[in-house]
Amino acid sequence: MVQKPAFAGFQSIDGETTDADFEDAWRRAIIFLGSATNDELLDDSLHPHELLFRLFSEDGVRAFDSSPFAMKCRCSADRVQNVLVSFPREEIEDMKIGEDVVVTCEFCNVDYRFDADHIDTIFKEAASG
Ligand SMILES: [Zn+2]
Repeated sequence: MVQKPAFAGFQSIDGETTDADFEDAWRRAIIFLGSATNDELLDDSLHPHELLFRLFSEDGVRAFDSSPFAMKCRCSADRVQNVLVSFPREEIEDMKIGEDVVVTCEFCNVDYRFDADHIDTIFKEAASG
């Protein structure tokens, strides 16, 4: 997997690096990665750094320390409430399923359920500032 960082207007050795240079470099990275064979990608005995060097030695390879990868969503009941109170009250009433408002986080698929009393309370709190 390759990830494209945001272009931050860095400078190359021979002068200013433009958006177009950056896009070129990105296309090259995609093409080089695409040239890796399935055997290389699945080879346990091939260290990832070695594969990087094979693919990108022409451009120079710098490996950073790895960081753990975790699925984390920053949603919370508080955040969802804050979104709910930003809507007109009538729209919230329309969202009700039975007595409850259920909001599903689009990122992590967690459901937040608020009953009618809870909805009343958060709107009263919001109205009183
Ligand atoms: Zn979430």
